Amino acid sequence: MRALLVPLALALLFAACKKDDAVEPTTPSTTTPPPVDTTPGRDDNMALGNPSGAVASVVMANNYLLVHPQYVVGYDNSRGLARWVSWHLSMAWKGTAERCDCFEPDPLLPSGFFAAEHADYTNSGFDRGHMCPSDDRDGSDADNAATFYMANICPQAPHLNQQTWADLEDYARRLAADSMELYILCGGYGNGGSGSNGGLTTSIAGGNIAVPARYWKVLVVLPLGENDLTRINSNTRVIAVDMPNTQSANALEWYDYRTSVDAIEDSTGLDVLNALGTELQGLLEVGVDAGPVN
Ligand code: MN
Ligand code: MN
Repeated sequence: MRALLVPLALALLFAACKKDDAVEPTTPSTTTPPPVDTTPGRDDNMALGNPSGAVASVVMANNYLLVHPQYVVGYDNSRGLARWVSWHLSMAWKGTAERCDCFEPDPLLPSGFFAAEHADYTNSGFDRGHMCPSDDRDGSDADNAATFYMANICPQAPHLNQQTWADLEDYARRLAADSMELYILCGGYGNGGSGSNGGLTTSIAGGNIAVPARYWKVLVVLPLGENDLTRINSNTRVIAVDMPNTQSANALEWYDYRTSVDAIEDSTGLDVLNALGTELQGLLEVGVDAGPVN
């Protein structure tokens, strides 16, 4: 009997293995994937990273993190202004609130820090230039008022602020109105701009506010959807610009100032888009946008 059982056991084992190895016939899926939610949302203003590693600690005065619900700032107390401001833009942030023109010192700046106020810019020859624009945050009076905190304001030559820089702000809002959502970072760097008073000005407010030589901006553009970070890939549109802080900035159109994120990082010492993997950053940061401009 035992002589027969061994081959029988082997045969059963073989059959069992064969069954395991066999490819199961695929059953047609009866469930369809859930539809992508393309309702505009208000997403994380700092989802693409913290380009300077700013921290909300008073010992980090020159790299201090200010987190407002409407935008986030990396603040440099030694220059009296932002190194960078980061925010999300979709139609979910838009509404009908009036522009408040209510410039105020940023209430999140610790005592002992320099906090710019409205009068610091008066007669300086430079506009109170928004980084996160007033028009990107008109969903409520409170949202709009927050964009007038002076840590979101930098000295910009009027022709830059009101024309070339403003044209790119308008373009970003047209993209948002056209079923896109954007992550935007920007700031000033370098020393010395030229406003409506002429000449080269390195600081205003009695030396407390540096006047940047140039302004940069990076926009990451996505179709409306969910889980934005996971949808960013090497084909994602990234627009980067670097403009002079002078009255002749309007000699060119905003899109003539397009450059690579790598060039901006070289100039500013920041690591933009650092929430993305190193490899993906490398792919996205080397190119110069050549997409549509209106
Ligand atoms: Mn402006
Ligand atoms: Mn980077």
